Order: sequence, then structure tokens, then C-alpha cells
Amino acid sequence: CGIVGYIGTRQAFPVLIKGLKRLEYRGYDSTGVALLSQIDMLNVYKKEGKVAQLEETLTSSDLSGTLGIAHTRWATHGIPSSGNAHPHTSQSGKLALVHNGIIENYSVIKERLLEHGFTFKSETDTEVLVQFIEYVKECNKVDTVTAVRLALNRVIGAYAIVLVDKDHPDQVIAARKSSPLVIGLGENNEEFFIASDATPLVEYTQNVVYLNDEEIVVLKRGEEMQICNLKNESVDPDVQCIEMN
Ligand code: GLU
Repeated sequence: CGIVGYIGTRQAFPVLIKGLKRLEYRGYDSTGVALLSQIDMLNVYKKEGKVAQLEETLTSSDLSGTLGIAHTRWATHGIPSSGNAHPHTSQSGKLALVHNGIIENYSVIKERLLEHGFTFKSETDTEVLVQFIEYVKECNKVDTVTAVRLALNRVIGAYAIVLVDKDHPDQVIAARKSSPLVIGLGENNEEFFIASDATPLVEYTQNVVYLNDEEIVVLKRGEEMQICNLKNESVDPDVQCIEMN
């Protein structure tokens, strides 16, 4: 339902929580965040209920990290619960994903993954997607961005996704089809903000790129964003200026 992501130089957690609160107007049943710290720790925290309730449970948790993703879930597959809340992680624990939308062919993909020995911790279509990305990555021995592209070529449905890889604390990957996703650009590309609508971004930047359907973006600190489509053609980002009010 609501997505927020951050990569840059400031602590991600306050940016993510504030962003989720700005998206609360959309309604949701559970909340979660994943934070990647400089020492390659991937910490995932999730809870049924409101953003403030998640915050309350995290007072003595490790919230460090300048890269993170966050989600407010409106359940479509699986009951509202902390286990079904996003982010969902892959079997190795290396990939973490947030997702808006519905993966329509998730049950066919899940059956195949079960045959290959994958196990599942939730009832969601989203966990199937993150596990599928890992499966494609291992089978084809490709990097994470390629695995995301190959996996999304097999997916039927609607998605806005943001993914982090513990082995790559320098990058965040996002993609969309039939579900909105917008990237906010920080000065000199030092930081990037990601959200499912512009509401959480306007206090940080006026420069945004709305991803188009079937586009994948890779965001790295200090580098220009790289966009490609599902056919692996590179796409020039269309930077727009949004009104501050
Ligand atoms: N289909 C996903 C789920 O049920 C995502 C729902 C959403 O858009 O929040 O977990």
C-alpha cells in the first residue's frame, strides 16, 4: 500500500518513519522496515498495527543505517499479521523486498520454488517474489539487478517494489508495473528518496522521476540513477520539478 525508501548519507530510519506517516492516509494494517548498516547488518522489524506502534517496540533496537526500505501493508494475500508484513526476506536472508500490488501467478512460481527446496515464512505473494529473485540469481549466476529483471519478466500482475541486497550496501533497486513509484533526487545525487507517491518526498527535494511501467532503477550514492526496462534497454530519466506548497 505505502512504500518509502532511502539511500544516502543521513540515518534512514527517521526518514522512513516520517514518510510512512505521510502515507497513512491511504489506510493499512501493518508496518515494517529494513535497515542496512555500514557494517553489512540487515535488520528487519515488522508489526501488525500502526507506524507509531512499530516505533514504540523499537526503542532499544539497532536502527542504524543510511540505506533502508519501509512499507505499510494493505493485505491482499494472507491475513494482516507481523509475519505477513513487509519487508519480506529471501531464504539466504540477503535480499529484502517491499511490494505494493498483487503477483497474480504467485502460486505457480511458489510450487516450483517448493520443488527446489525453498521454504516460506508467510502466506504472501510478495515473499514468493523475493524468493523467486534469489532463485533466478543463483540459477543463472547473475547479479541482483539482472535477477530482478529476469524474474519480473516472468511475473504477471501489478507491482511497485524496492529491494535491498545485504551484499550490496551501496545500492537500492526499484521497479514498477501498474503501481506508482517516484524517486526524489538529492543534491549531487548524494541521496535518493523513493516513495509510492510524492507526499513523503516534497520536504527533501523538488526534483523527482516518476518511473514508467516495466522500468527498473538502480540508485547508488554519488552516481546518476540508472534506469532500464524489462527488455534491458537503457532509459533516460525524465527529471521533473514538483511544486512545493
Ligand atoms: N499483495 C501484497 C500483500 O498482500 C501487497 C499488498 C499491498 O499492496 O500492501 O502482502
